[in-house]
Amino acid sequence: VLRIEGVWKRYRDHSVLRGIDLEVAPHEVVCLIGASGSGKSTLLRCINLLETVDDGAIYLDGEEITDPRVDADAVRRRIGMVFQAYNLFPHLTVLANITLAPRKVHGVPRREAEDQARELLARFGLADKAHEYPDRLSGGQQQRVAIIRAIATKPRLLLLDEVTSALDPVLVTEVLGLVRELKESGMTMIIATHEMGFAREIADTVCFLDGGVLLERGSPDRMFTAPEHPRTRDFLRRVV
Ligand code: ATP
Ligand code: MG
Repeated sequence: VLRIEGVWKRYRDHSVLRGIDLEVAPHEVVCLIGASGSGKSTLLRCINLLETVDDGAIYLDGEEITDPRVDADAVRRRIGMVFQAYNLFPHLTVLANITLAPRKVHGVPRREAEDQARELLARFGLADKAHEYPDRLSGGQQQRVAIIRAIATKPRLLLLDEVTSALDPVLVTEVLGLVRELKESGMTMIIATHEMGFAREIADTVCFLDGGVLLERGSPDRMFTAPEHPRTRDFLRRVV
């Protein structure tokens, strides 16, 4: 689905990503872990073309999306992204939030978009919230609606950036449950997370970013039980 080759990103004289190589296969779930400032969010933003890369290339389904001639909006239509917080439009109901992009960007007729949205809401236990406004929902419900909205356009790839870090522990469980179901349904995902237990459970591949370098990657079992690099070991000792 995705291939990242030698990607560098600099802000002024500070290199935030230093030659990232990463491949993501269909249905694969990749978790990005690493200290604050290691470049996780920046990498996700580069994939979604919210940032331009300074060197290297990113391919989505074989097409180079970092080519300046590429239509960035067309690429973003194939990628879903959910951030830590403030994802929903406050002046729109849950249903309107979810159907906005399918209708306006993908040209799906209103009835069809609403039927699909209701189906997704029902599947994730939010059927009764369709006509609520975001401020009437709990943080966990809001974040689940944000994820549902991101998948309503049937993206090839879903990018999740710390989707639980603004939430209370109880609400975290709800959101992680949804992500777990998405994995079971075969969604390809890249997830930046500080929840090591969750990364260990859900990831097919765990990638450890350290100062903008993808220092080590592997199966969650190996990464969490037998990290090879001393810096990975240090990081895990501090956070687990
Ligand atoms: P966290 O775990 O705290 O979310 P992260 O791994 O997501 O951290 P990034 O947000 O990718 O880290 O930031 C990586 C580095 O890039 C940081 O040093 C940050 O200060 C820097 N950075 C990010 N965005 C910008 C920007 N727009 N301008 C300048 N520097 C930036
Ligand atoms: Mg971040």
